[in-house]
Amino acid sequence: MSENKDFLHVIVNEDLKSGKYKEVITRFPPEPNGFPHIGHAKSICINFGIASDFNGHCNLRMDDTNPTKEDTKYVEALKDAVQWLGFDWGENVHFTSDYFDKIYDYAIELIKMDKAYVDSVNEEQMRENRGTVTQAGIRSKFANRTIEENLNLFEKMKNGEFKDGEHVLRAKIDMSAANMKLRDPLLYRIRHAHHFRAGDKWCIYPMYDFAHCLSDYIENVSHSICTLEFENNRDIYNWVLDTLKLELPRPFQHEFARLGINYTVMSKRKLLELVEGKYVDGWDDPRMPTIAGYKRKGYTKESILNFCDQIGVAKANSMVDVAQLEFCIRDDLNKKVPRVMCVLDPLKVTIENYEGSEDLVSPYYPHDVPKEGTRKVPFSNEIYIERDDFSENPEKGYFRLTPTQAVRLRHGYIITCQEVIKDSKGNIVEIKAKYHPDSKSGSDTSGIKVKSAIQWVSSKEARQIEVRLYDRLFKNEAPEGIEDLNPNSLRIIKNALIEPAVILEKIDKRFQFERQGYFYADPLDYRDEKPVFNKIVGLKDSWAKKTKAEEPKSNNEVKAETKKQVKNEQVVGEVAAMSDKEKVLFDKYLKELGLNNEVANILARDEKLSTFYEESLSTLNSPVSLANIVVTEVARELKDKEISKLKFTAGQISQLVKILDDGTISSKIAKQVFEEMVKTGDNPTKIVEDKGLVQISDPAIISPIIDDIIAKNPDNVSKFKAGNTKLLGFFVGQVLKTTGGKANPKVVNQLVAQKLK
Ligand code: ATP
Ligand code: MG
Repeated sequence: MSENKDFLHVIVNEDLKSGKYKEVITRFPPEPNGFPHIGHAKSICINFGIASDFNGHCNLRMDDTNPTKEDTKYVEALKDAVQWLGFDWGENVHFTSDYFDKIYDYAIELIKMDKAYVDSVNEEQMRENRGTVTQAGIRSKFANRTIEENLNLFEKMKNGEFKDGEHVLRAKIDMSAANMKLRDPLLYRIRHAHHFRAGDKWCIYPMYDFAHCLSDYIENVSHSICTLEFENNRDIYNWVLDTLKLELPRPFQHEFARLGINYTVMSKRKLLELVEGKYVDGWDDPRMPTIAGYKRKGYTKESILNFCDQIGVAKANSMVDVAQLEFCIRDDLNKKVPRVMCVLDPLKVTIENYEGSEDLVSPYYPHDVPKEGTRKVPFSNEIYIERDDFSENPEKGYFRLTPTQAVRLRHGYIITCQEVIKDSKGNIVEIKAKYHPDSKSGSDTSGIKVKSAIQWVSSKEARQIEVRLYDRLFKNEAPEGIEDLNPNSLRIIKNALIEPAVILEKIDKRFQFERQGYFYADPLDYRDEKPVFNKIVGLKDSWAKKTKAEEPKSNNEVKAETKKQVKNEQVVGEVAAMSDKEKVLFDKYLKELGLNNEVANILARDEKLSTFYEESLSTLNSPVSLANIVVTEVARELKDKEISKLKFTAGQISQLVKILDDGTISSKIAKQVFEEMVKTGDNPTKIVEDKGLVQISDPAIISPIIDDIIAKNPDNVSKFKAGNTKLLGFFVGQVLKTTGGKANPKVVNQLVAQKLK
């Protein structure tokens, strides 16, 4: 520890050297009216940190002078937070309420010195008489009461003979003091309220300014460290102790800047509002900036301590970027946790040329983490990959699986796409692929170049988990309150798939799900039969300004592929960056038209696309099909063109979707028709007629084709009959191929199933 680490260390060090104190005693004095937040963590680190740096002691004191707002559940939360951060308050927790008798006696003493009086003006009058910054105040006429009178009235106040607000006890200091706080501040007020510890013994309660300095004194505190907003209260602090002739080693107050973090509200009042209004799921909701929230989300104490250390102690208030806190947790977990594979939005991949199964022995940790351990990752011919790790129409720079681009399965083989299977709406439901036997990770002799490795799970062995994707609670940098809540701060994925070792081996509670982020087994809801994981933080700052984003990383296959992850997270988080107009569109698309999050997001953010989409919607009420074709096919054409330069119109796209929806053409044919529309601008119906592309749904035509394929593939037929039902897709695929994509997949599916029974 450096004795000069910050200005507080300098003060304490000097005070010890000069002999002002023999021992350093600090205190952390929260009011138990809410759960402690990250700002309190800073105060805890400072107070307990200084005590430990100078071999002193730090008290944990509940500043419980406001009976109406306090509760033991907050006391417990405060104790828990201090303990979790690794600090020790010694034998017992202190309470200001334990000193109520002593503080009362000090008040009597002040009255006897004619330094305090009972005032009986109402609140409004008192405010008026206080004066202004430029004008002296006027002392109340009741300040002339005799000491006897004051003692008598104060006793009656204590005995409950007056109503709330009827009288107060004030210090007699200076009604013209430049520091307005010194204009006869309140010392006691009447409160007929039940106190959670003192019960009904008291109906007068000391004010902060009176109770705090005296509690510090009673506890032999040397350095009373608080936040800057108490700077002006320091004069009262000193006045009380000096007037009562409480001498060294008496405490002195020192102030530091309070912690503020962007995208966060920190006042307990505002946090309480979130809890009581059920905007969050309690004080320990993982989105709350409370210690309990961070703990539940999966933050480590090391990351919080490190953060508090990094932000340091200063005298000037400033706003810390929440990205810095996120950096600290990412940095900590990066050095510690196992890497595993989880698929959040599964897309089935059938590997047609693979038979049987095998276990791929794979390390839990990357080379630069000094930990050892491996697990078996089962591999088979049916796996799931992340839906957006496949793209039929890839953008430039897309490094993952495409119809023409191979990809590595992390820890496994390289695969190549053979065929894309879609449902009748044109949604991709399965990829048929082949694997390259000599490309196994670690012993790859295939010579095939891939640009990235993607996560995957084997369908038979994968476990279902619930994943809670948490994002920032507020969408604004400087949120005021509930009106600034981020509507996408929590997304729950009920059926993500994870490799089995995570559930079976329980090597850790925190994991990096490769390419997704860091996750934590929820301490409350996790069950072996229904595992739940919370997202702690992403792998990159997804909220970073666009200009900062996407710098290339090392040539490690996985890391090179950061683009997707950034994009993926932006779907969740970047909604904040939408303009109001875009937000309105997004909501409409998502909630009214039933588009999925990603499609709604793409449309809402692109004015050309949304204009085109709206226009096509005006002639055909088929929002989902239209949206799908607009964000894929049309988007490609509009990338570097204006709408007016397109050969086809929004109306023609509606026509195309109409004949797709009603089954006239298959989705495969729809693509072909679209290509033609791009070139010629012809009507889709005309193209279909001219080229004879009408979908074949007639079983009489399809049946013989199926019979033919069955006859040619006796091996697969017997495998299918032996139980390998996954081969159904093979036969359907063959029929579609033979008909040039014109056969109606639904009909083909039914017929094939019938014939193979
Ligand atoms: P809030 O305004 O958030 O309700 P508070 O100051 O009323 O907080 P207390 O329980 O009275 O909360 O505070 C206990 C200690 O924690 C005090 O010493 C206070 O100065 C410190 N503290 C509170 N908020 C912060 C913060 N944001 N940064 C640093 N210290 C803080
Ligand atoms: Mg307070």
